Amino acid sequence: MEKIQMTMPIVEMDGDEMTHVLWDMIKEKLLAPYVDLKTEYYDLSLLNRNATADQITVDSAMAAKKYGVAVKCATITPNKQRMEEFPQLTQMWKSPNVTIRSIIGGTVFRTPILTDVIKPAIRFWKKPITVARHAYGDVYESVGFHSQEPGTCTMTFRAVSGQEQSVVVKTTNGPAIWAAEHNLDDSIREFAQACFTYALNMKQDLWFSTKDTIAKVYDGQFRRIFEEEYEKNFRTKFEQLGLKYFYTLIDDAIARCVRSEGGFIWALKNYDGDVMSDLVSTAFGSLAMMTSVLVSTDGTMEFEASHGTVTQHYYRWQKGEKTSTNPIATIFAWTGALRRRGELDKNEALSGFAARLEHACLQTINDGIMTKDLANLADPKVSVRAVNSEEFFDAIIAHMK
Ligand code: NAP
Ligand code: MG
Repeated sequence: MEKIQMTMPIVEMDGDEMTHVLWDMIKEKLLAPYVDLKTEYYDLSLLNRNATADQITVDSAMAAKKYGVAVKCATITPNKQRMEEFPQLTQMWKSPNVTIRSIIGGTVFRTPILTDVIKPAIRFWKKPITVARHAYGDVYESVGFHSQEPGTCTMTFRAVSGQEQSVVVKTTNGPAIWAAEHNLDDSIREFAQACFTYALNMKQDLWFSTKDTIAKVYDGQFRRIFEEEYEKNFRTKFEQLGLKYFYTLIDDAIARCVRSEGGFIWALKNYDGDVMSDLVSTAFGSLAMMTSVLVSTDGTMEFEASHGTVTQHYYRWQKGEKTSTNPIATIFAWTGALRRRGELDKNEALSGFAARLEHACLQTINDGIMTKDLANLADPKVSVRAVNSEEFFDAIIAHMK
C-alpha cells in the first residue's frame, strides 16, 4: 500500500512517562504504516527541558506558530516531590503548557470523545459538548479584604492622564467582606475571536452565556464584545455554513444544555468555564476520553490529551507489567493535528486518514474491546473485554485493515 504523503510538517512535542510510551506505540503501530509522517520533533520530556534550561519548550512553541499545527504528549510539571525523584533538576521548571500558552496565546477547548457503548450521565446528550473557558481575570485575579468597623467602601480608577473614575461600593454598619475583580477588553476580544474561529472550524454553533442582567457593566461588556466581533468578522461566515451564534443568560444556558443533544461549542467566563468543564467532562465519562486544543487568534492549533502522564501506570510498566492505559485521547490529539494539517494543506488523503483512524478506535470500543478505565462505564448490555494497551492497539489495527 502506498503511504499518504504530507507537504508540511506537524510540530511534535514528545513528553513523559506512560503517555510517552503510548506516543511511540501510536506512531509505530497506527501512523507509520499508513502515513509518511513528517514532523518537526521536540523532546519536551522533563530531563530534556532541564538539559536545555527549558529552551526546548520555547522553541517548540515558536515552531507551532510557524507551522500552525502541533501535537503534544502529556508532560511532567515538576513539584517538590518530583524534585526529589529527579535530583538532577536544576530548577522547578514551569508547566510547559503555561509556557506554550504564553507564547501561542489563545483559548483552550476541551471536547469529550463519545462512543455508543459509554453513555453520558445525561441521557439526552448524543454529540460532544465542547467547553471553551476564558482563562484570564475575574475572580482568579481578584483582590479582597475583611473590614471590621462601619464605613464606606469605594472603588477608584486613576488613569495615567490623572482622570479619576470612582464608585461607592456600599456603606456598611458592621464587619464586611470586599472583593474587586477586573478583565481586559483585549483579552475578551481575543477569547471571542478564538471561539468564533473554532466554531467555524468545527462547523458547530457557538453558545455564549454570562449574567449580564445582573452584572450590567461587567458581563455586559463581555456580551457587547462578542456581538461586535460576530457582526464585524464572523456573521457572514457563520451564515454561509448555516451556523448560529447564540447568546443567552447562564441559567438558561445550563437548562438548555442539559436538555440538548450536544454538538455545540459553549464559551464561558473564567469561573463558569472552570466549573462547567468539570461538570461536562464528568457527565460524559472519563478524563481518558477528553482531548483539548489550544487555538490562537492566528489559527495556530496545538492538540493534546486532557489527562496527565499517568504516572502510576508508568511505575508498573517500568517493572515489566502490562498496563491497561487508555490511549484514545492521545490518539485523538494526533488525528486532530493530522486533520488540521490536511485541511490547511488541502490534503484530503491526510484528513480522510484521520477520520478513518478515529472511526477504527470508536468501532473497537463499540465492539466491547476497551481498556479497564472504560470497562466499568460501559453499557451493561454490551459484553465487554477489558484488555491491556497493546491488545487494544492490536484491535484498532484489525479495524484499520
Ligand atoms: P493523570 O496522569 O491524568 O492520572 C490520574 C489518574 O487518572 C491515573 O492514575 C489513572 O487512574 C487515571 N487516568 C488518567 N489518564 C488515564 C488513561 N489514559 N488511561 C487510564 N487511566 C487514566 O494525573 P496525575 O497523576 O495527577 O498527574 C501525573 C503527571 O501528569 C504529573 O506529573 C502532572 O504534572 C502531569 N500532568 C500533565 C498534564 C499535561 O501535560 N497536559 C496534565 C495533567 C497532569 P488509575 O491509577 O486509578 O488507573
Ligand atoms: Mg475546575
